[in-house]
Amino acid sequence: MWNLLRNISTSLTTLIYPHCCTACGTNNLPAADGICSYCLQHLPLTGFMQQPDNPVARVFWGRLSLKNATALVWFQKHSAVQQIMHGIKYQARKDAAFQIGRWMGHQLQDCSWLQQIDYLVPLPLHKNRLLTRGYNQAACICEGIERVCDLPILSTVAQRSSATVTQTQQHRKARWENMKQVFSINPDLPLNYKHLLLVDDVITTGASLDALGQQLRHIPGIRLSVCCFAYTVPH
Ligand SMILES: [Zn+2]
Repeated sequence: MWNLLRNISTSLTTLIYPHCCTACGTNNLPAADGICSYCLQHLPLTGFMQQPDNPVARVFWGRLSLKNATALVWFQKHSAVQQIMHGIKYQARKDAAFQIGRWMGHQLQDCSWLQQIDYLVPLPLHKNRLLTRGYNQAACICEGIERVCDLPILSTVAQRSSATVTQTQQHRKARWENMKQVFSINPDLPLNYKHLLLVDDVITTGASLDALGQQLRHIPGIRLSVCCFAYTVPH
């Protein structure tokens, strides 16, 4: 019964929103993809993957010790990247998130440090937001990376205890303060001496990733790295 309802819902969604590229709207793309090959090939790569000292790494300097930190593309307003971000967050384009993850997986395979990673960890969403959105876009990205890199995903590393809805409007310092104690770590996982790759869709100030990292860094021998889809320069 549930499957039937879900199938009807999917069919109705397809009727209202025909399958198209999240970025440019063309319907010339494989059914499993959310982004057409033209848009994917023309995304503005940062080149950070092969550059240890990069702006994403610098976001965390003096705050959180990371082994590696990177983002694949530049985020700019009114760009294909913004369209994709909007699609995967607000238009249920899990297909685009999964495809981005596969693409990130292929890029990560060129990084020698990928071999040191034990687990992929999607940045947790607050449960209320998870309920309204129906999925965690960072987890969808992780599923794509997992498909290519064959790395296990740990989705239960932490819980997010507040939604921090208004944080985009806040001053940078207020944002960092607001994020303290937002995550509570699951004490039942054997994370000692593991290397976690924290994954999110976009990084600006890094406040959420830092808040999670601050909780994780107390685990003996833990190593942390960060990989996001897009990087936006903070104002
Ligand atoms: Zn396109």
